[in-house]
Amino acid sequence: MTVVSFKCPNCDGELVYDPETAKYKCEYCNSIFDQDVLSDMMPGEGQTKESTQENTQEQTGEQNREDEGTSKQSAVVYSCPSCGAQIVTEETTAATFCYYCHNPVILQGRLDGDYHPDGILPFTISKEKAKETFLQYIKKKWFVPRGFFSERNLATMTGVYFPYWLYDAKLEGGIEGEGQKVRVWVHGDTEYTETKIYRVVRRGEAKISHMPENALQKADARLAEGVLPYPFEQLEPFDMGYLSGFMAEKRDVESDAITPQLRQQAKEDAEHLFREDVQGYTGFSVRQSDFSVMEEHWNYVLLPVLTLTYQGRDGKIYYFSMNGRTGQVSGELPVDGGRLALMAAIVFVIVGLIGLLIGWLI
Ligand SMILES: [Zn+2]
Ligand SMILES: [Zn+2]
Repeated sequence: MTVVSFKCPNCDGELVYDPETAKYKCEYCNSIFDQDVLSDMMPGEGQTKESTQENTQEQTGEQNREDEGTSKQSAVVYSCPSCGAQIVTEETTAATFCYYCHNPVILQGRLDGDYHPDGILPFTISKEKAKETFLQYIKKKWFVPRGFFSERNLATMTGVYFPYWLYDAKLEGGIEGEGQKVRVWVHGDTEYTETKIYRVVRRGEAKISHMPENALQKADARLAEGVLPYPFEQLEPFDMGYLSGFMAEKRDVESDAITPQLRQQAKEDAEHLFREDVQGYTGFSVRQSDFSVMEEHWNYVLLPVLTLTYQGRDGKIYYFSMNGRTGQVSGELPVDGGRLALMAAIVFVIVGLIGLLIGWLI
């Protein structure tokens, strides 16, 4: 396993990807570099002495998976390319920061071979922009405790690349059902109703593309799921540089594990498409639907999410997250009991006043 970081050619500082300019910026001397400069660059490597500790733990990880992974995955330790300090990572970490020198580091080994992403949507929204949006969002939610939007908590806003599977499928098949056309008219004193019944068949091919499925088992995957969808037509070829300055997770869900549910979903989507094509009837009901998957394809991609979490007094983790491309937000916010009680009291007084006023008017 190799730990890498991208060094500034001018001052040897760390380069981070800047979402707003789509260029790489040195935080020390403010130099700016294009993607092609970075691609030509050999990233700085950490001492790759793979400690036995790491190896055994990696192996333990494997064994755990074989044992249905009931025990919690152990942390894996690497050394920082900038300061040599130890970087403690989880089994699924692919990019993070050094705890001591705060420089970005990328764990190349977590992105090699089968784990090399097929594509990535780089961030186009910066952390600063996300903070502004968060404050706007929270302004309308009166009951949120101040701790959630304190300067100190806001500083923990993080850009994370979450691993996703994108499923593409070509299906063949069709639906068969009963369509009804009802006509009502009046002649003299009599009302006539005519009901015509049709057998409706639709057969053909359906193509379903880029059906996203979360590839991370961890509970915090809900941070990413709330901000779907993404503009998948804008996917770019993967480049490690994009991860510099962000966190990134590696998948721990394989495509086999989710294939049955994705196939089922694809069939339902296909049925829906065909159903929409049946028009001009008063009523229509599907009697039979059968589709077979003829071709399928998976893409492993990394998607950008900005996240902010907060531990409530009840010990529960609340969150705010934002799509790093579209700005779509999602969250579960804690409620400040004190603020809620105050609001309830105000509402009560207002209702009371209105009551008095109505009583006085009558
Ligand atoms: Zn520099
Ligand atoms: Zn360091």
